[in-house]
Amino acid sequence: MAIDQYGRSINYLRISLTDKCNLRCVYCMPEDITFRPRAELLQDDEILRLVRLFTEVGFHKFRLTGGEPTVRANCVELVDAIAHSPGVKTVVMTTNGLLLDKMAQPLADAGLQRVNISIDTLDPQKFKKLTRWGEVGDVWRGIYAAEAAGLGVKLNSVVVRGYNDQQDVVDMARLTLENAWQVRFIEMMPFGDVADFQQAGIVSEQELRKRIAAALGPLSVVNGGQLDGEASLYQLPHALGTLGFISSVTQPFCASCTRARLTADGRLRLCLLREREVNLLDPLRQGATDAEMLDIITKAIWRKPWGHKLGQDIIPLNRVMSEIGG
Ligand code: SAM
Ligand code: SF4
Repeated sequence: MAIDQYGRSINYLRISLTDKCNLRCVYCMPEDITFRPRAELLQDDEILRLVRLFTEVGFHKFRLTGGEPTVRANCVELVDAIAHSPGVKTVVMTTNGLLLDKMAQPLADAGLQRVNISIDTLDPQKFKKLTRWGEVGDVWRGIYAAEAAGLGVKLNSVVVRGYNDQQDVVDMARLTLENAWQVRFIEMMPFGDVADFQQAGIVSEQELRKRIAAALGPLSVVNGGQLDGEASLYQLPHALGTLGFISSVTQPFCASCTRARLTADGRLRLCLLREREVNLLDPLRQGATDAEMLDIITKAIWRKPWGHKLGQDIIPLNRVMSEIGG
C-alpha cells in the first residue's frame, strides 16, 4: 500500500493521456499553446507498465484525462488494457464530451465505468466564448451517447466571473431537478501563464450557493456533509440529481486526498496545486527494473505535500492545467 508522510493512503491515479485538446478553454490554456512532440509523451506500453506498477502498491482507481483524452490515438484500446489489468477496480474519464457521440459505446464496451463531462454553460454563445470555438450541441450529443451506453455521468462546470457566473449557474443547477445527474461547480484554480486571468475570475462556492438557492429553493446537505471525492454535495427540493461544489482553493480537501497525477510526459505530480513532480519517464526509458521503479514511486508518494500556498501568492507556474489533467 502506498502511504504518505501524513498517513494518507494514496490509491487513485489520474493519468493525462495527452496534453493536446480539440478546444482551448480560456481558463485552461492560452490560445496559441504549443503542444509537446509525441516522442516526449508516455507511449502506450509505458502507460500500461506504470499502471501495473501502481496497482502493485495498492492503486485501484484510475481516471483518464488530458488535454482531451479522447483525441489520443488508441484511446479505446488503452482503456481496455487498463480496465483489464490485474488490481484495477475502477476506470473513469474526464472529457469535454465532443467525441463521445461516436466513442461512448466503444469506451463502455472496453470497460470504462463513468465519465465526467465538462459543460460550463447551456448558452451556445457563451459556450463558444469560454471554449474559444466549441459547439455546446456537440457536448449534449456526447452526454446522451454516454447515458445510452450505460456510463455513469457527472457534469463539470468551471465558473468564471463575467462569463458564466449568473443565470448560467442557475440553468446548470436546474438540470438536476429532472435528471439523476451530479452537476459539479468547480472553483477556478490559478496555473502558469493564465494565472492572472484565473485569479481575477474566481467565484466563491458561497456566492454560487446563494444564487442557486434564491432562484430554485433552499439547498439541503447530502451525505451528512461528507465529501463525495472532492465535492461537497447538496440537493434542491424534489430534485433527482445533486449539486457538487469543488472548492480546492478556498476549501482544500487535503485530509481526504487519495490521489496522485501522472502527466502526459511521464511526471508524477503529487498535488495539483504544487509544482513538485518526480520524473518517471527517464528511468523507464533508461531501463529501470520494476523494483527500481517501485522504489521511486513509493518514495515520491511518501513526500506528497499537504496544502497549497496560494494564500502566500505561491502559484504553480511550471504547467497549465491541460498538461496536468485537472
Ligand atoms: N479536456 C477534458 C475536460 O475538459 O473535461 C479533461 C481535461 S480538463 C484539464 C479536466 C478538468 O479541469 C475539466 O473539468 C476542466 O473544466 C477543469 N479545469 C481546467 N482548467 C481549470 C482551472 N484553471 N481551474 C479549475 N478547473 C479547471
Ligand atoms: Fe481542453 Fe479540457 Fe482544457 Fe477545455 S478544459 S481546453 S476541453 S483540456
